Amino acid sequence: MQGILVLGELDSNGLASVTGELLSLARSLADETGEQVSVSLQGASVGSEADDAIAIGADKVYKVESPLLSEAQIDAHLSALEQVARSAEPSIVLIGRTPLGRDVGPRLAFRLGVAVAQDCVEVSVNAAGRVTATRPVYGGNAMASVSFSGDGTQVVIVRPKTVEAGEPDSGRSGSVEDFAANLDDSVIKARLVETVSQETEGVRLEDAGIVVSGGRGLGGPEPFEQLQALSDLLDGALGASRAACDAGWIDHSHQVGLTGKTITPDLYITIGISGASQHMAGCSASKNIVAINRDEDANIFKSATYGVVGDWNKILPSFIETIRELRDD
Ligand code: FAD
Repeated sequence: MQGILVLGELDSNGLASVTGELLSLARSLADETGEQVSVSLQGASVGSEADDAIAIGADKVYKVESPLLSEAQIDAHLSALEQVARSAEPSIVLIGRTPLGRDVGPRLAFRLGVAVAQDCVEVSVNAAGRVTATRPVYGGNAMASVSFSGDGTQVVIVRPKTVEAGEPDSGRSGSVEDFAANLDDSVIKARLVETVSQETEGVRLEDAGIVVSGGRGLGGPEPFEQLQALSDLLDGALGASRAACDAGWIDHSHQVGLTGKTITPDLYITIGISGASQHMAGCSASKNIVAINRDEDANIFKSATYGVVGDWNKILPSFIETIRELRDD
């Protein structure tokens, strides 16, 4: 067993952002152990994504092409990845905690007869290439450090946005193998019937450089209009705590946190959010947090770079006005 194999995912823009993150993570781990990084790129057709993967850190690309891999047909992707893994015999398989990865990862581990570490937010290796991974437990109230016994393949499922994708280096070289996976309709036991894409206006929450989020302290759905105005002014995206989403004030697609989205913006502005551990699990990697909360003991202030203690009703209008003036200058 040697090397790190990444499950590559493709989307309408080419290589999915999570794949860039995993390749960067794989590269840094492999550089410590002197091993190779390979990636299984699976789709109806794989083109320039192979070069993109090499530029980010792959030494070898397994190109697995089949009409059955055109969509997120779990069984087809699982079978393709299993065949690549049996051929490559990697010591580590890195998979993103995406809708596809969440299904494929544990099933791949089962088929290979090895263990899986789910929902990891930190991954390190020792000199022998054995993984130690950190994952949130008890609803994000504690972090567990896990390692794998034995010497088999280690399947590690990594939460998106917990690692930053490195800059591509077009001078890197690597090899591309057309991998002929044995795939036919019979491998598909549960068929994907329909994919409904969610329309997003403006920048996606997960990709936004600035996120403005509201919580239960807003008291109702109407104030989210002010937050939307602020986020538009900053070319940002609108987020929310689970309490605000559960109350029906804003759609769950805006939820940040353990059971919502993980974000890593340069600036995260929270308004009326207490900073519960499950919320922070999704935003603690933000570079700067600005919190407006009337409770000076609110947990959010422990993570905030800048904090304003007070009623958002009084603070937000002048905050928005000042930003508007600064933008107009
Ligand atoms: P609260 O905790 O009620 O905080 C409201 C804040 O608003 C308070 O700090 C208050 O001081 C302040 N406030 C009130 N009025 C004003 C005012 N006028 N001006 C200024 N400040 C004011 N939560 C998430 O967010 N995301 C998740 O993904 C998530 N996943 C979870 C998973 C599990 C398994 C569990 C058990 C919980 C999860 N939660 C999650 C819920 C989490 O524990 C908290 O309940 C939730 O984050 C609280 O949301 P909040 O901060 O908006 O509300």
